[in-house]
Amino acid sequence: MKKIGVFGGTFNPIHKGHLHLAGGYCRALGLDTVLLVPTCIPPHKEVDDLLPAIDRLEMCRLAVRDMPSLAVSDVEVRRGGRSYTVDTLRELAGLYPDDELYFLMGADMFLTIEEWNGFTEIARTAVLCTASRHEGELPSLKEHARLLERKYGARCHIEAIPVLDISSTEVRDALAEGGDVRALVPDAVRDYIYQNGLYRPVGPDFQQ
Ligand code: ATP
Ligand code: MG
Repeated sequence: MKKIGVFGGTFNPIHKGHLHLAGGYCRALGLDTVLLVPTCIPPHKEVDDLLPAIDRLEMCRLAVRDMPSLAVSDVEVRRGGRSYTVDTLRELAGLYPDDELYFLMGADMFLTIEEWNGFTEIARTAVLCTASRHEGELPSLKEHARLLERKYGARCHIEAIPVLDISSTEVRDALAEGGDVRALVPDAVRDYIYQNGLYRPVGPDFQQ
C-alpha cells in the first residue's frame, strides 16, 4: 500500500510556500508521492487575474521538475468546469484502489473544509492533513481537528511544519508592481512568467 499525498489548489501561480508544505509533508509522513492538482475553475473564490488552467498547470510542472517526490495531476483541468475536491478524491481513489490518500491543505482551507461539497465523503476517502500558514495557528487547528474527528469520524493529521508565509496574492501583487519575485517562486516559474508576459502591470503606463 502506497501513501499518496493530494494537494489541490488554484496555484495562480505556484510558489515556494506550496512546495514547502508538500515537501514537508512528504518527509514527515513518508509519503511515496504528492500529487499537485491545479483546479480548473475554483468553486469558492472570485479571482480577477486567474490565469488559464493550462498556464497554471505548466508552472506546476516546471516547479516540480527537479523534485522526484512531487508530481502534477491534470485530473481537474481535464474534467473541466468547477473543480470539487470530492470528485477529484473519488477519481483518484478509483485510480489507486490499494493506496491510502492524504489530502494536504493550508490552515485556511482546513478551517472551512466542513462546508465543502461532499465533506463527509472527503473525510471517508482521505486523511485530512494541514499545517499553519501563519504563526500561532496550531492550537486552533488542533481544536478543529478534534471537532471533525468527533463529529464525522474524520482522520486528521496536523504537522508542525515551520511557517513559510507566502501567498499567490503576494506574488501577483509584486509582479503587478514590477517587483522581483525570486524569493517567492522557483526560478523556472519566474522565467515562465516573464517569457509569457503574465501578471503584468496594468495601467496607463503599461498597455498590455
Ligand atoms: P491566493 O493568495 O491566490 O489565495 P494561495 O497562496 O492561498 O493563493 P492557493 O492556490 O489558494 O494558494 O492554495 C492552495 C493550497 O495551498 C491551499 O490549501 C492553501 O491553504 C495552501 N497554501 C498556500 N500557501 C501556503 C503556505 N505559504 N503555506 C502552507 N500552505 C499554503
Ligand atoms: Mg488561497
